[in-house]
Amino acid sequence: MNGDARTPIVFFGHGSPTNALETNMCTQRWGRIAQTIGRPKAILSISAHWCTRDTSVTAMTKPRTIHDFGRTLPAALFDIQYPAPGAPALAERIRDLLAPTKVQFDNSWGLDHGTWSVLLKAFPQADIPVVQLSLDATKPTSWHFDLGRRLKPLRDEGILIMGSGNVVHNLSLMDWDLHSEPYDWATRFNNRVKDAILNNDPESLFDYESLGRDAMLSVPSPDHYWPLFYVLGARHDTDRVTIDPDHVQHKSLSMMSVLFDDRPLTA
Ligand code: ZN
Repeated sequence: MNGDARTPIVFFGHGSPTNALETNMCTQRWGRIAQTIGRPKAILSISAHWCTRDTSVTAMTKPRTIHDFGRTLPAALFDIQYPAPGAPALAERIRDLLAPTKVQFDNSWGLDHGTWSVLLKAFPQADIPVVQLSLDATKPTSWHFDLGRRLKPLRDEGILIMGSGNVVHNLSLMDWDLHSEPYDWATRFNNRVKDAILNNDPESLFDYESLGRDAMLSVPSPDHYWPLFYVLGARHDTDRVTIDPDHVQHKSLSMMSVLFDDRPLTA
């Protein structure tokens, strides 16, 4: 990161945990996104896989690597460690920024696979401090967006805000064949979200329950949808938007990732 430039923000569509074991188009793209961003002072990750009934932030100095998936996945996944340090001072800064919303300091969670399966490819050296913020599952989408808005000053402090989820995430209807054609509804909803991002119209996506059958099938539960809204909340009007990749795989899993960056383009 150079000088006083504002840090970009990014939403990663993380897909299957097995991406951590692979080198594929998406994982290569995550690496390129990280190269574009440069090296932040620390990372704040909002992962689909940490839902709570409050707002918690990891505050330990050495967050553990959590293998939060079923034993049907390859054993090698359970051996992966992502030993990035924590950042208790950043946890305190987040608590201050989010006041009067009460933020709990957490010393038991760590880094779940929504965070480390992506960071392993983006910042493989695991030497940048990482903090996770939980998703309060009792709150509506607009509330999550507002929290993202209040975190925006971190961009001027060298902190990378990243959301990790999936815009379309229906595991019960997915097909393990990577190359099977996406469902029409999945493609339509993926495009709807993409258009709203490009038009800077996040409000149109808040009340997804009212957006019809495409949305109901794409967002059967909101955990993988909400991380996007922290990133959209931290957006500046001056950000350039890069959506890549933007496709749906396994019929019902969107791998859309979105980078927002308002630093001057270098030749
Ligand atoms: Zn996930």
